[in-house]
Amino acid sequence: MAAQAPRIAELGSRPVPLFPASQRFEQLEALLEAGPFDVVLLDGTGEHTLALLQALRRHPHYRLRLIYADGASANVLALSDGQPPASRGAIDQQYAQWHERHELFNRGRNPEGIEAQLLAYLWIRAPGRLLAVRDPHSPQHYVYPLLEAMADGPINGQIWIANLRQRNLIESTELIDRIRLCKQCGSGHLNYIDVCVECNSLDIQRQPSMHCFTCGHVGPQGEFLKDGALLCPNCLTRLRHIGTDYDRPLENYHCNNCKAFFVDADVEARCLDCGTHHAPDELLMREVHHYRLSETAMLVSRQGLEQTTQEYFSRIAMVGANTFKTLLDWQIELIQRHKAPSFVLMGVRFRNLGRTLERLGPQRGHALLDSLVERIQEVIRDTDRCTRTSEEHLWLLLMHTDDVGLRLVTERLNRISELFVGKDLQDIQVRTVGCIAPRDLIEKEDADLLLARLGGEL
Ligand SMILES: [Zn+2]
Ligand SMILES: [Zn+2]
Ligand SMILES: [Zn+2]
Repeated sequence: MAAQAPRIAELGSRPVPLFPASQRFEQLEALLEAGPFDVVLLDGTGEHTLALLQALRRHPHYRLRLIYADGASANVLALSDGQPPASRGAIDQQYAQWHERHELFNRGRNPEGIEAQLLAYLWIRAPGRLLAVRDPHSPQHYVYPLLEAMADGPINGQIWIANLRQRNLIESTELIDRIRLCKQCGSGHLNYIDVCVECNSLDIQRQPSMHCFTCGHVGPQGEFLKDGALLCPNCLTRLRHIGTDYDRPLENYHCNNCKAFFVDADVEARCLDCGTHHAPDELLMREVHHYRLSETAMLVSRQGLEQTTQEYFSRIAMVGANTFKTLLDWQIELIQRHKAPSFVLMGVRFRNLGRTLERLGPQRGHALLDSLVERIQEVIRDTDRCTRTSEEHLWLLLMHTDDVGLRLVTERLNRISELFVGKDLQDIQVRTVGCIAPRDLIEKEDADLLLARLGGEL
């Protein structure tokens, strides 16, 4: 179904609408009552606009919609589609794309649940942006506003992110911070304090100190003063000349609790939420990233969420990219140690497949993918493993295979290009690359390096 012209609502205090055909509202309630709208423009800035934006993203109808907002705060950027386009024509165009992708997502099924909605949101804007925003009120210092809006309430964003990442559905675009958290409760509200190296007491203070060259004694300056002259309290030498008899080392610490005297204090991180004391290296370390949709997730979004994980991929024994790499690393290790068993790693690239599928539309695209999967299936045996590192890249790990086997598989894979004839499909090119282990392995090469080396030839 092609998109009709979008119904546009403008919300805020601007007296006249930005675009003549849109409807103006000052209150969110009025907008919700008059809706549903396809596109919303927010014209204010500041906290109030952010609250409106959050409310709209939590609303089932507006969760995935195009919402433009003027503000440039990190929160507004994380939840909106940015500044309103300059012209009505640009909005229509963006809406048409929104509509088309929305229809395509998960084979046209409505996204239900946080995860599907988040994937849909990002896929409609592929690769989208899942932005982390600094938040002093959060115990973890950073939140993902989009995730919280989809969840309609506070959630443990870190766990969601870790899960999506593990399943290769999102990929990081930028490292924005490294934070340390309490190992007990996960809070980032930590106080770093200097404590006594002997008794861990907090009650320490800096003290000017002296260093006797004769015996090497170091102690507080006060201990060296005797009747207006300087005398080492340890060896009782009279100290006359700084630089030859004594010097003043850096300020030292003195513990008021156990009277210890030391150069460097220990540092302890104390959790302000649960009170746990840590040595700094005991804290949990987390990296905070911005994310976008991964290639895998783009494929999943198009092919259907449950299909990918169940029937569709299992038909060709597809494993996750990380599992595949672990398996490959293991095979490489075996080969290095025992020179056996030999295996073949094949890379296949279907250049321009993604773009062609997009152009073909959902029905013809799916038909093409189906026949493609069938042909690949014919090549692979049950014992082989297969993974996908992008929409275009397919990797096969063929066990106990030699030169002859490699030639055979390459021929069969190259024959798949028979599928891509005709004007619509001729852009797609099948490329293959293969290597036989141990013969073609380079010393000290692991799975990542090997895949990168072969991938470069595709
Ligand atoms: Zn001395
Ligand atoms: Zn002490
Ligand atoms: Zn804690």
